[in-house]
Amino acid sequence: MTAESSLRADIVEIGRRMYARGYTASNDGNISVRLGSDRLLMTPKSVCKGFMTPDMMCITDLDGRKLQGDRDPSSEMLMHLEVYRQRPDVQAVVHAHPPTATGFAVAGIPLDRAVLAEVLTTLGSIPIAEYATPSTKALPEAVRKYIKAHDGMLLANHGALTVGSDLFGAYYKMETIEHFAKISLVARMLGRENLLSREEVMRLQELRGAYGIKAPAPICAVPGTEPQAGSLPDETCQVVQAPKGEGSRLVVSPKPSAEADEIRLTYRELSALIEDAIRSLR
Ligand SMILES: [Zn+2]
Repeated sequence: MTAESSLRADIVEIGRRMYARGYTASNDGNISVRLGSDRLLMTPKSVCKGFMTPDMMCITDLDGRKLQGDRDPSSEMLMHLEVYRQRPDVQAVVHAHPPTATGFAVAGIPLDRAVLAEVLTTLGSIPIAEYATPSTKALPEAVRKYIKAHDGMLLANHGALTVGSDLFGAYYKMETIEHFAKISLVARMLGRENLLSREEVMRLQELRGAYGIKAPAPICAVPGTEPQAGSLPDETCQVVQAPKGEGSRLVVSPKPSAEADEIRLTYRELSALIEDAIRSLR
């Protein structure tokens, strides 16, 4: 098997896994990989990623001109091209709409709390790139702001994007984001989310080096650290929400704000309020 045919087979397999896991519906999602120094191998537009065959892929140059393939390249090609432009170290890009992570993207809640050691050592934080119309030039612009410091991000009201040093590396980060989103959702439904302390987060960051995990940027030393003049926020480090632990590795989070604002009513008071509301509608 040549290197190119092996990459074609990997894209087919990753598309199959994404569709089987419900990360994409219908023709959603796209996958690409560098083919040498000046070409990309990419999924075509308007095909279900669960049923692709190796011959369906397109080859383009780094400006998106199609060089080979019966079909047109992905409608999100501009976003992929921007990632390769900004990150010479990135070899592969995966985009999908995994439902739980996309739910966070729709709710405008980034996955940036220090909760799981594995997520902190691999991805760091997962920010949300501002909403932009899919397939337009606005989407790569929104992604540009975060891609230098992050290997994975949510796309507001759209989905998620991950990158890696190979195809499966990029795909596994998509799995990690969706898994993390599910765990975060369950913890928040249970009403409490204990966070790792800032000291523990810094300790985990040192482990990145020990295990040879290549992160695009360090975790910001202090939450909310102001970026240097002229630089974009989040361009130089990863913002992670981790409170000071003062010696402890785990910090019991305060009551979630929703709970703090909770109002308790008796059944009779609630019924009276509903009746009032109905009366005012008449
Ligand atoms: Zn999409």
